[in-house]
Amino acid sequence: MKPTELEERYGARNYAPLDIVIERAEGVWVWDTSGRRYLDCLAAYSAVNQGHCHPRIVEALVKQSRKVAVTSRAFRNAELGAFFRDVCELTGFERALPMNTGAEAVETAIKLARKWAYTRKGVAPGNAEILAFANNFHGRTTTIVGFSSEPQYRDGFGPFTPGFELLPFGDASAARAAVGPNTAAVLVEPIQGEGGIVVPPDGFLAQLREVCSERNALLIADEIQSGLGRTGRMFAHEHDGIRPDVMLLGKALSGGLYPVSVVVADAEILDVFRPGDHGSTYGGNPIGAAVARAALSVLQDEGLVENSARLGEVALRRLRRMRSPLVREVRGRGLWIGIELHESAGGARPYCEQLAERGLLCKETHDHVIRFAPPLVIGEKELNWALDRIEEVLTA
Ligand SMILES: *Cc1c(COP(=O)(O)O)cnc(C)c1O
Repeated sequence: MKPTELEERYGARNYAPLDIVIERAEGVWVWDTSGRRYLDCLAAYSAVNQGHCHPRIVEALVKQSRKVAVTSRAFRNAELGAFFRDVCELTGFERALPMNTGAEAVETAIKLARKWAYTRKGVAPGNAEILAFANNFHGRTTTIVGFSSEPQYRDGFGPFTPGFELLPFGDASAARAAVGPNTAAVLVEPIQGEGGIVVPPDGFLAQLREVCSERNALLIADEIQSGLGRTGRMFAHEHDGIRPDVMLLGKALSGGLYPVSVVVADAEILDVFRPGDHGSTYGGNPIGAAVARAALSVLQDEGLVENSARLGEVALRRLRRMRSPLVREVRGRGLWIGIELHESAGGARPYCEQLAERGLLCKETHDHVIRFAPPLVIGEKELNWALDRIEEVLTA
């Protein structure tokens, strides 16, 4: 059987992928099983900001996997300390807690915020509340989908974990009214990615920062997709000139070579966890640590944040100038752009399929938004090639 037939025959049906069977990849390019080449404008939801199979990150993976792969945290390993140092130096926080997937980092932050609320803020047992935002995406665990506003993510999966409340995204006054004595934390994506690359009004994060500081609640920035250069800054919250109390990273933290996520915060917060409170068998394993260190140094050494800022401007300018009866709005920051189509366009998926026929891989999000998020190693020539294809499809 062919790979697609095997997938259909044996795989669970929880995805509806475009019918491109990727066999290998390098940098911004991927090749299908017939040898056809595509420019990857999804970058595995920003897991491959450094480009596919970056040689330095592959080298770190191979080298470490020959030495020792997993030790569990029952013992120390020779790679973890340097990973902690690098991630703390890059983010400016004092401590780091490693997990594997993004959803696990979010779950970790939820536990952290609750324990902090009970032991530091003095919230009565069982009353801690976490505020999040409508249209959020923080992952797929039962607790996390319990506070999603997307009906499909919830339907059929209850009962859900209590203690969450949703606020309108971008509305600082609603947050001001909601943060109170029982609020452990406000959990926010600086820009909503899965929600359709929704950029909040300028100063929104700064106002959240102010409210959280005034009322002694933690501000948790979920930078799993927005972080590590995607928006033209190392972290998207820098656009608002603020520092969250807790930050979550994942996806590009390992450049796509291995699942690595992390929660960073200062000691006075992260030290509410004591031995036994939380953990993960694979979290902090030597391969993940070595791979993540390489992935972070590639971002810095190759100037990928600057490239994202510069080429993001080029792309936004050109897409905004494009005259298309289909396009309602073009928005984004850095190389993270959402092209929202009018309702009358009948959904973004057919346009993603047309782009794929022309050699460009994009994925719709929320039915009517085409998400453009190539690896940050993309060059100007490749970018213009991609923009030509998009313009062709949307102005035909
Ligand atoms: C992808 C994502 C997650 C979940 O990450 P997984 O590795 O898929 O569990 C959480 N938050 C945000 C903002 C994301 O984009």
